[in-house]
Amino acid sequence: MKLKCLPILLVFALLLSACNLLPDAGGNPRAQASERSIWAMDTQMDLRLYGDSDGKTMAALTARLNELDRSLSATDPDSDLSALNSSGHSEEPRILRLTAEALAVSEQTGGALDVTLLPASRAWGFTTDNKRVPEAAALEALRERVGMDKIELREGVSVSLPAGTELDFGALAKGYAADVCRARIEEDGLSGILSLGGNIQTVGSKPDGSPWVVGVQDPDDAGRYLLTLELSGSKAVVTSGDYQRYFEQDGVRYCHILDPKTLAPVRGSLRAVTVVADSGLRADALSTALFVLGREAGESLWRRLGDFEAVWMEADGSIWLTPGLENLTQGDAFRVIAP
Ligand code: ADP
Ligand code: MG
Repeated sequence: MKLKCLPILLVFALLLSACNLLPDAGGNPRAQASERSIWAMDTQMDLRLYGDSDGKTMAALTARLNELDRSLSATDPDSDLSALNSSGHSEEPRILRLTAEALAVSEQTGGALDVTLLPASRAWGFTTDNKRVPEAAALEALRERVGMDKIELREGVSVSLPAGTELDFGALAKGYAADVCRARIEEDGLSGILSLGGNIQTVGSKPDGSPWVVGVQDPDDAGRYLLTLELSGSKAVVTSGDYQRYFEQDGVRYCHILDPKTLAPVRGSLRAVTVVADSGLRADALSTALFVLGREAGESLWRRLGDFEAVWMEADGSIWLTPGLENLTQGDAFRVIAP
């Protein structure tokens, strides 16, 4: 079967070891790859750059990712986000930027993206190692603290929250971080591919002119890719699913993405959804929202907005693609949604 050799190939392409330099056959410095893996934003991040001969860009990216982690963490009491959550006010530009994007995507998706769910995530124990099903009454009591309508954004100036309302950028921070890294890599005239905890960001062109190959993981087998996408230029490929952060109780799987309508983990027929878009921030926000919406509502959203491509993986094993991905995709049997 054609797919069998893919995992090894992709592990080589995507899983990057500690910083090392691999000269290409011709010794062209622009084609030299350097790689580094770090832990930030509660996940492993693998960075591969081409042409970073003095290591300056890699050092800058590492510093930026660590700084963004410290700034945007909802659990670090010293972060800019925690300062907003405890004081109810922030003027930090990146907090304003993420809030503005969250409000825009929330509006476009009928509230499927909701960055005020932190008290509910906490009640389910997703912010700690003590995951559990909370009492229904305890969840209901959180309603008055939750909802995008609680956020008061004065664009470019400030964001304010009422007492008890807290923001969590878990659904879009890695996408934002990918945009920040991409800008730096482009500024330095380099290319590369980043995996920020499964958020893939390609930047520029591969030195040998071949397309970037990005694997879409099997929800039931982390070592296997169901599909591979061949992409050119700078693209974000972001997946949200029920298989990375979840717990099981009495045979039910509870995943870390909550439905704002129920304040409970999404229980639909989707295992995962992958979004391909130009902006990492948008791809990340949309992937979470599309997971909440389910495939049919997600298809309608795609028809309405048209600025992203998507792959839906359903519990029955079926895979659906938007038409723009059809010719870029190889792998298991898939179907293409109607335009
Ligand atoms: P991951 O961060 O695992 O890549 P996502 O981008 O889908 O996955 O973000 C999930 C995170 O977003 C959760 O861990 C939680 O912090 C937060 N979250 C959960 N449900 C929602 C939601 N409906 N809207 C916005 N953020 C959410
Ligand atoms: Mg997301």
